[in-house]
Amino acid sequence: AEADKSQVGLCGLAVMGQNLALNVAEKGFKISVYNRSGDKTDNAVARAQKEGLGDNLVGFKDMGEFVQSLAKPRCVIILVKAGAPVDATIEGLAQHMEPGDIIIDGGNEWYENTERRAKALEEKGLLYMGMGVSGGEEGARNGPSMMPGGAKAAFDVIEPIITKVCAQTDSGPCTTYVGPGGSGNFVKMVHNGIEYGDMQLISEAYDVLKTVGGLNNSELAAAFNEWNAAELDSFLIEISALILAKEDDQKPGEGFLVDKILDKTGMKGTGKWTVQQAAELSVAIPTVASSLDARFISGVKDERVAAQATYMSAGLEPADAEVAALTPEEKQQLVDDVRAALYASKICSYAQGMNLIRAKSNEQGWNLDLGEMARIWKGGCIIRARFLDRIKKAYDRDADLPSLLVDGEFAKELVERNDAWRRVVTSAINAGVATPSMSSSLAYFDSYRRGRLPANLVQAQRDFFGSHTYERVDMDGWHHTVWSDMN
Ligand code: NAP
Repeated sequence: AEADKSQVGLCGLAVMGQNLALNVAEKGFKISVYNRSGDKTDNAVARAQKEGLGDNLVGFKDMGEFVQSLAKPRCVIILVKAGAPVDATIEGLAQHMEPGDIIIDGGNEWYENTERRAKALEEKGLLYMGMGVSGGEEGARNGPSMMPGGAKAAFDVIEPIITKVCAQTDSGPCTTYVGPGGSGNFVKMVHNGIEYGDMQLISEAYDVLKTVGGLNNSELAAAFNEWNAAELDSFLIEISALILAKEDDQKPGEGFLVDKILDKTGMKGTGKWTVQQAAELSVAIPTVASSLDARFISGVKDERVAAQATYMSAGLEPADAEVAALTPEEKQQLVDDVRAALYASKICSYAQGMNLIRAKSNEQGWNLDLGEMARIWKGGCIIRARFLDRIKKAYDRDADLPSLLVDGEFAKELVERNDAWRRVVTSAINAGVATPSMSSSLAYFDSYRRGRLPANLVQAQRDFFGSHTYERVDMDGWHHTVWSDMN
């Protein structure tokens, strides 16, 4: 009978799917689940039973039966590997669906794939959405941030469910209708790019404190805990404090685990997409771009080790060869300065990310609400932070703000941190400690707040060698000069 049917289906029961399915069941919705390999279905059902959610979660190993178990309009969330697996899954589902039914891809998908699929499914009368989900395993289980974009009619059907399933904050549930087309995937992609930047900035803060300041792991953890109690309060700072304090689990009594971890960063591609999109749209996002470069450089570990040896034999020691011995007062001053530098850099990074979202929104006519994006990132997701409230408020004050950097409140905060930020970057440079994201954030700030840049010389050079012409500050029109006999 229709009444016994599930309100929603979930296809793909790896880390994200399984946890999200349990979350949906726990919030009181009946859910059907399916996975290509049956063992994951068994797993999900067993876990649901163990957690007392067995009545709300029904497992299927046949896709047809899975789809038939859903109440109409049937709505299936997919959480499989992005790319071809999503196409294969859609093809299977569509065979059993009828006009009005809904498919929502919750993976980290390239936004154009979502638009292509939406178009193809529209011909069959099916509604499609791309919904970014952030928060990893824990978020999926207890409340992620959900960024659905695409068919509004599909959103209206899923809204009551995702509104209860997502993270809840004092600014409301961490979901909203993002916008049409692939906007949900795009916003999730930029979220991940910002996440790259945040992680890199935090790792630079750690490096400066450790290598320039000589703080040990306990002091580092204490500093991060102190920061987490105020304006830097965020998930990533919180977990970094826990990471820094964690003793080696495989060799108990032999120091801290973080010091044993190979310094090579993995990645899955959303950060790279963010930088590529920024280049396509001519939007500067140097904080995120430098964090991506930092991952690339981390990847050539063997070359770095060899280069260190080359320079040591040429007489140049690496930064960690000689760590200064600071007094407790000097250490506290450095901790305070780095805190300021981190926060100021973060403002620049988010200003860049928001400008990228706006540029894409304008290009595509998506009409995205930047303040709402900050609001739905406030809980559940990896970049969740108290700070996002301030971004939301800045856009509430002025939705057309050209940059967060010119919001009155943020400008005041940047000015307050200006001296400390420069002290940190300067001492890092002097010590040979690379702070690419903090430094590029500062350069972004200094470029953006300067009325006249040396781009005049670049224009002159372009005109010199390529007759590209230039504009003048004191006359209208485009000009060309024969600069010398070389022209
Ligand atoms: P995943 O490792 O990305 O994917 C595994 C799932 O994909 C399994 O259910 C697998 O089925 C299925 N699959 C792979 N190839 C398939 C194919 N050709 N046809 C049908 N199904 C196929 O899983 P995940 O880590 O849970 O992530 C799911 C999505 O969420 C991804 O887009 C990911 O980028 C995104 N995401 C992940 C996280 C995270 O923390 N893990 C966070 C946010 C977003 P079998 O069991 O049959 O192999």
